[in-house]
Amino acid sequence: MLKPRMKSAALKDREGFRDALVAWFSLHGKDYPWRRTREPYAVLISEVMLQQTQITTVLNRGFYVRFLEMFPNVESLSMAEDERLLKAWEGLGYYRRVRLLRETARAVITEHGGKFPIDLVALMKLPGVGRYTAGALRAFAFDLPAAVVDGNVARVLSRVMDFSAAVDDTAGQKQMWQWAEALADPERPRIYNSALMELGQTICRPGVPDCLSCPVAEFCKTREPENLPLKKQKTAVTAVDEYALWLRDDEGRLLMHREVGKRREGLWKLPTREAAEISMLPVRDEHRYTITRYRVTLRVHDGAASNKLLHPAKDEVWQKLEDVLALPMPSPFRRVIERLLSEI
Ligand code: SF4
Repeated sequence: MLKPRMKSAALKDREGFRDALVAWFSLHGKDYPWRRTREPYAVLISEVMLQQTQITTVLNRGFYVRFLEMFPNVESLSMAEDERLLKAWEGLGYYRRVRLLRETARAVITEHGGKFPIDLVALMKLPGVGRYTAGALRAFAFDLPAAVVDGNVARVLSRVMDFSAAVDDTAGQKQMWQWAEALADPERPRIYNSALMELGQTICRPGVPDCLSCPVAEFCKTREPENLPLKKQKTAVTAVDEYALWLRDDEGRLLMHREVGKRREGLWKLPTREAAEISMLPVRDEHRYTITRYRVTLRVHDGAASNKLLHPAKDEVWQKLEDVLALPMPSPFRRVIERLLSEI
């Protein structure tokens, strides 16, 4: 698809580019709950939640509102116990994020007297706060002219500037940040950055964008937007199998495993075994999911015909069936456990 018109470029007329975006956003901008607040803590929670989770998922499943009800400020989050914290994040995945949020809350209290710093360097010293999150806090909470580059913004900029190199390698990232900084709005940073992101979400979307509805089409240099952005070669996805055990005892309890010292520390799941130990047992359920670069097939084997190999190992605990679903657990395991419990 060829883009219809091309008159000027964003860097030559920055003010015109910003004005066009802001005017469009004032008519079409969406009213998300995190856009109604300027409280840095609430902004931080939304930004971290949205880093690897779709807006519609966060909205439709009430994650943001629920989390803020459970932990309304840095004080409550700093004191959160593991089990409650993980439960509040359940379904969002990447549990390291919520532990880092708790670390951030603690650092804000101990190092900044409970108030988020404004300075970019100070923000980036907070645990888990990188350039993107620091920029988002500066723009959305403090209304400062900060650059904010996420996937949507990188796509828009790569097209507006007709950038014919990868946007996700070091040089490409550097270029995106430079352009974002050059274009940052000194007068309406909060609205301008929201507008730029929303343009990427709704109009300048992946694949074929809707250039005919685009408020900045006249500033955009690419003639083949569907071919941009370019990305570096993707890491191959590896298929792996995971063998879990469904084992109940005579007292109506289910054997569960509590993760220790790993990415999912504190989460509960069904005990897993080597394939050779349990793959001969009947399969009760199967579930496929993807995590980072792995496509996982989770097979749950029935341990009813138990033998010595199936006895509880370290960190495996019998849990009453009625208590199991209240435990924090990764979504793939919750799905199979819910299914299997419903069959009892
Ligand atoms: S939608 Fe994207 S590619 Fe199309 S004109 Fe707008 S900025 Fe350019």
